Amino acid sequence: MDQIVSLSRRRGFVFPSSEIYGGLGSTYDYGHYGVLLKNNIKARWFEAMILERDDIVALDSAVILHPRVWEASGHVEGFSDPLVDCRTCKLRFRADKLEDSQCGRKPSKHPGETPECDLTEPRQFNLMFETTVGPVQEEGSRAYLRPETAQGIFINFKNVLQIARRRPPFGIAQIGKSFRNEITPGNFLFRVREFEQMEMEFFVQPEESERWYRYWIDERLNWYLRYGLRQSRLRVREHGPDERSHYSQGTSDIEYLYPIGWSELEGVANRGDFDLTRHTEFSTTKLEYVGPDGERYVPHVIEPAVSLERIIVAMLVDAYDEEVVGERERTVLRFHPQIAPVSAAILPLIAKSEEMVSKARSLYEDLRKRQSVEYDDNGAIGRRYRRQDEIGTPWAFTIDEQTLSDETVTVRDRDSLAQERLPISGVRSWLDDALEQDWKTPKAD
Ligand code: ATP
Repeated sequence: MDQIVSLSRRRGFVFPSSEIYGGLGSTYDYGHYGVLLKNNIKARWFEAMILERDDIVALDSAVILHPRVWEASGHVEGFSDPLVDCRTCKLRFRADKLEDSQCGRKPSKHPGETPECDLTEPRQFNLMFETTVGPVQEEGSRAYLRPETAQGIFINFKNVLQIARRRPPFGIAQIGKSFRNEITPGNFLFRVREFEQMEMEFFVQPEESERWYRYWIDERLNWYLRYGLRQSRLRVREHGPDERSHYSQGTSDIEYLYPIGWSELEGVANRGDFDLTRHTEFSTTKLEYVGPDGERYVPHVIEPAVSLERIIVAMLVDAYDEEVVGERERTVLRFHPQIAPVSAAILPLIAKSEEMVSKARSLYEDLRKRQSVEYDDNGAIGRRYRRQDEIGTPWAFTIDEQTLSDETVTVRDRDSLAQERLPISGVRSWLDDALEQDWKTPKAD
């Protein structure tokens, strides 16, 4: 994890937030490549969930909703974690995750391991961030930053049903920020207080919910494989009945083998009719499906939910590689080409050669209209390749001496390091084709 954190910072993917003020624990800002990476992951999710399907529509609901939403959903009453304070080191921990927490003092590694740790009894701590709406802080102005995007979807069920003219099975998907006042954030982006969720609620006939639940576990697992995560690092873990949320009729975690061990990447839950029933009760608006021949029922809901942050950590970990080439060590991020922040680099071999620069710039101007590409003429060519390796750019096109005589360029492959020559006029279609190909990581399991 340390290597990932340091590379992310060094190459401008992720910075600790508010650094010039001493930082704000477990809060991060995304730099240029981090933003490009996030955009690609969101785009691939959006394609798989919406653009490639006929049965799911998009939504972008508000962050601050009517406070009654969170009463109906059960969050006001029950969205809490058990918290313990240590009277010795003055730190707070999640009582159910003591073994994952670090004690503030030696010799204990984890809190509570030695008598020196003086822990309080656990008490429930609500994870929702409170805020007030309007200029005066008074009774009735209290609201919450959403701790999940899902409720914004449920409260729009009727709108979508009527206006988008949908009938089950159909889904509503959205990407947006969620906020949780986590007691023990940490492990880089794995557990943060502000994160971007990608959730989809799939409404089905009650008797079909089990089938769709299994279907979505497979779909989501296959999405990770499609975008290059190694099969040996992914597994599905079904929750036991005592581990499931009160509303859940079945929950499975898609887990990834993070450096901290197997942990939840994405959750897929069969939420039954809990949400629509509760919002019907609290809002008095009937949230049900009425068919053309009068049949009516409250659809059951299958929910795949994940955060961009957990995907980013998994993809960085899976892509990170170090190897010795010739005498040199190189660090390379072996991202799937459609995930990599930059698809190709365009490099004039000699930055002082006007002809090379002009050819490289015109290739760059052509490619940048459609792809995320980067022009770089700064430093020795070997150093430029290594810079691109570190941000995971799958291909580099180099304009050299030979280009000036025969209008061909060298394309260098990030993973195999193979180089071949292409006519400069064919680069654009070559890159389009290369990006369309299936891709498998060369990293060993
Ligand atoms: P955990 O048990 O790890 O706290 P959870 O079961 O509460 O997670 P859900 O409520 O199911 O998580 O949230 C759905 C998804 O949102 C998770 O699978 C995870 O990808 C992501 N997620 C939840 N909390 C955080 C967080 N604090 N930071 C980053 N991502 C998160």
